[in-house]
Amino acid sequence: MNIAIIGGGLSGTLVAYYMLLADRQPATLYLFEREQRQLARGIAYRDSNKRHVLNVPASAMNLYNLPSGDFYQWLQKNTHADFSPDDFVPRNLFGSYLKELFERQLTKSHTVKIKIISDEVIDIEKTGALLSVSTKSGTSYTVAKAVLATGILPPADTFALTPDVIHSGLYQTNPWNYRYLNRLKMNQHVTLVGSGLTMLDHAVELLNDKGNFSVTAFSRRGFLPLAHRPYSAYDFPDYNISVTEDIGALLANIRRYYSTHKSNGLNWRDLIDRIRSQAPELWKGLNEVSKKRFIRHLKPYWEIHRHRAPQRVLQLLARATQEGRFKLMKGYVKKVEVKGHRLSIQLATSSNTSFITTDYLLNSSGLQQDIALTSDPLLQKLLERKYMIPDRNLLGIQTDDSGALISAEGKKNIFTLGALRRASEFECTAAKEISRQAFMFSEVLLTN
Ligand SMILES: Cc1cc2nc3c(=O)[nH]c(=O)nc-3n(C[C@H](O)[C@H](O)[C@H](O)COP(=O)(O)OP(=O)(O)OC[C@H]3O[C@@H](n4cnc5c(N)ncnc54)[C@H](O)[C@@H]3O)c2cc1C
Repeated sequence: MNIAIIGGGLSGTLVAYYMLLADRQPATLYLFEREQRQLARGIAYRDSNKRHVLNVPASAMNLYNLPSGDFYQWLQKNTHADFSPDDFVPRNLFGSYLKELFERQLTKSHTVKIKIISDEVIDIEKTGALLSVSTKSGTSYTVAKAVLATGILPPADTFALTPDVIHSGLYQTNPWNYRYLNRLKMNQHVTLVGSGLTMLDHAVELLNDKGNFSVTAFSRRGFLPLAHRPYSAYDFPDYNISVTEDIGALLANIRRYYSTHKSNGLNWRDLIDRIRSQAPELWKGLNEVSKKRFIRHLKPYWEIHRHRAPQRVLQLLARATQEGRFKLMKGYVKKVEVKGHRLSIQLATSSNTSFITTDYLLNSSGLQQDIALTSDPLLQKLLERKYMIPDRNLLGIQTDDSGALISAEGKKNIFTLGALRRASEFECTAAKEISRQAFMFSEVLLTN
C-alpha cells in the first residue's frame, strides 16, 4: 500500500515514525515537505527558534506510547545545561529530539519503507479507489490513502487593509517569519495584533533586543495568557466532570469541583490540564447551541487558562510596561492608514475609538481557523473539489472520529491530524495531542 503524508512537521513526522515503528504490513510512505529546514521540526521547533521556549515545562512534552526515553531524559543525556523537569527549554531542542527519534527509526523497519520528497503537494484527485497526488514540480504519485499533516492554517488578514498599507513595507501578515526584525531601526515602535502566545514570542524578541524598541499589543478582550506554576501531584478524588450537552451545566460542574477541592490544595492549573485531556470527549458531547455559546463567550477565558506562559516571559512584559516600552490595549482594527513613513491604526471597542501611530504592524493573532480564508493552494483545491467541508462554527473542517475528512462524495481515504481537526476534537494542537492522533493512524491507515 502506498500512503502519502503531506507535511513533514511534527504531525507528519510522527505519523511516519509510528508507522515505521509498528512495521506491521508492507507499505511505502511518501513524506512530502516543501521546506527543507522544517523537515522533522515544522514551524514550532525549527533550529532558529533558540530564544523561544516551549510553552510547557520540559517534563510535559511527552509523546504518546514511546518505546524508549522521553524528551526530558533525552535533554539530560544530550545537553550540557542542567535543566530541571520544570524548566521551559528552547523549542529548537525539542526539534532536535524529534529529528533524532525519527532518523533513528528510518533504518529499523523492514516492511514499511519511506521516501522523503522535497516538494509541495498542490492537488489530490480521487480516481476510483485511489488518489493521485500532484506536486509543484509536476510529478504525480498514486496512493491508496493520504494524510494532510499541513499544520495550522496560514495566517490571514481578518481585518480590512487597503493596498497602500499592504504594499507599504510596514505590515506583515505572517507571524512565523522574523525577517521584519531586520527592517527595524533603533527606538522604533512595533504594534502587534493579538495578545496570546504568538504575540509573546514577538514581544520577547523585540523587548529583549538591543534596538530599544517599544511595543503595543492589542486584542478584542486585551487578555494575556496566565502564568504557569510548577505542577502539583493532585490526585483528583471523586473527579466527576462528565459529558453533558449543556455548556452551563458543564461550567457549573467544573466550578463546583474546584470550590470543593481548592481548600485541599487543588490548583486551577491542574484542573484545567485534567479537563483539557478530556476536552475532545466533552466537546463532542455538547449540543450545537452550547458549542456556539462556548465559542462566543467562554473561549477567550479558556484560552488564557489553557495556553499559559512561563513566569519569566510575563515578568519581562511587566518590566517593559513599567519602563514604558510595552502597552497592552483592548480593541479591534477599524482602519489602518499610511501616514508618511508610519501607520496610523484606528482601534475600536464597543464604547470608544483610539489611535496608535506605529513604525511597523505585525499580525500575531495566532491560530487562524476559518478555512474559507486560506491562501494555501492545496487546501483551496480540496475545498473546490468538495473533498473538504468547512465546519459550521468556523473551526476548520469536518472530520470523523478517525480523522477522515468528511467529503461530498463520501469516500474516506484522506485523513488529517492536528489543527485541522479542531471542529471535532477542539483541543488537538499540542505535541501530546498530535502524537496520540499520529499513533492512532498507525493502527487505522494500514487496514483496508
Ligand atoms: C510557534 C508555535 C509554538 C508552539 N509551541 C508548542 C509547545 O511549546 N508545546 C506544544 O505542545 N505545542 C506547541 N505548539 C503546538 C504544536 O506542537 C505545533 O503546532 C506543532 O508543531 C504542529 O505541527 P504540524 O506538523 O501539525 O504543523 P507545522 O509545524 O506547521 O508543519 C506542517 C509542515 O507541513 C509542510 N507543508 C504544508 N503544506 C504542504 C504541502 N502542500 N506540501 C508539502 N509540505 C507542506 C510545511 O512546510 C510544514 O513544515 C506550538 C505551535 C506553534 C505554531
